[in-house]
Amino acid sequence: MTVAITSAFDSGNIRVLRQEGAADFVLAINKDAGGEFFQWFHFRVSGARGLPLRLRIVGLNASAYPEGWPGYAARISSDRQQWVTAPTSFDRDREEGTLSIEVTPASDHLWCAYFAPYSMERHHDLVARTALASGVSSRVLGVSIEGQPIDCLEMGEGGAHIWIYGRQHPGETMAEWWMEGALEALTDPAFAASRILRSKARLHLVPNMNPDGSRRGYLRTNAAGANLNREWAAPTAERSPEVLAVRNAMDETGVMFALDVHGDEALPHNFIAGFEGIPSLSQRQIDGLERYKTELCRQSPEFQVKMGYPVAPRGRANLTMSTNQLAERFGCVAATLEMPFKDSADLPWPATGWSPERSKALARACLAALAATIDELS
Ligand code: ZN
Repeated sequence: MTVAITSAFDSGNIRVLRQEGAADFVLAINKDAGGEFFQWFHFRVSGARGLPLRLRIVGLNASAYPEGWPGYAARISSDRQQWVTAPTSFDRDREEGTLSIEVTPASDHLWCAYFAPYSMERHHDLVARTALASGVSSRVLGVSIEGQPIDCLEMGEGGAHIWIYGRQHPGETMAEWWMEGALEALTDPAFAASRILRSKARLHLVPNMNPDGSRRGYLRTNAAGANLNREWAAPTAERSPEVLAVRNAMDETGVMFALDVHGDEALPHNFIAGFEGIPSLSQRQIDGLERYKTELCRQSPEFQVKMGYPVAPRGRANLTMSTNQLAERFGCVAATLEMPFKDSADLPWPATGWSPERSKALARACLAALAATIDELS
């Protein structure tokens, strides 16, 4: 049987450069539209049962985040349900950065990805299931460049508008796993924090802001090559209709609190980036953000505040990023949540690394923290 590799499916991305043995492949990652970014990979290896498979992805020193590779382990699955880490090493001096994955598959098909994938079919399952829950409405805010819906799920009877959105960067699939956890928690009456939030607020959740990039197997851009989290100051229908649709909907409701959900390639931690550099920064906003982060530390031992991005000086915020734009535009507390592609160094679990299950558990903690602090955020 011949060993074969394919990525011709939803969110697939790999290119076979050459084969050096029956089960020895040299691979490369295709770039996003725009030609700038690449890092996400997702492919299937068939016919390698019992063979010592050697997969080398080369040229990674030019990837979007070269620091994402040291200490990283690729995710593999035989059934596309359970994803575990594979023995992985990185050599920056070999073929301009080589990630080597060595595994002997126990089954005919092996799936390999940068992180557990979240398909558009699963997205539609999530939207359909959530929309059937009591008190939930689901609306389409607009469409992507390729005509896919920008879905928004809404619930709650309170006056404060909370916006939670994820996957502006499509390769950060942990963001939609997080959104799945959040939507399950918010429609679970047994989860007390959801009852508090739904009585005090109107919640708007956009589980996937970049369906085109998701389907195309991109790391960071939409079909037009736009990095959506650099489009919030002046989104356009031609280049970033996904952002325009969501920002217009936010302008209609106002925003009391916003959470933008991401993954970070390099840092092995969960952390929050704020909006400290915005021109109109108020003490109330700073206090609200600090209060939220402190509460989230209490709610989840997987969250921490020591490690994160450098804080922008006053007046130097990049207002094309959603968190800064929304904090400036609405005077609200806004936060960017980052989860790791690697493991969380604070409480490691090497068998899976950071995972769908841990992303979903963190979503519950984030909602519990929000319920505990909502009266102090407005
Ligand atoms: Zn991101």
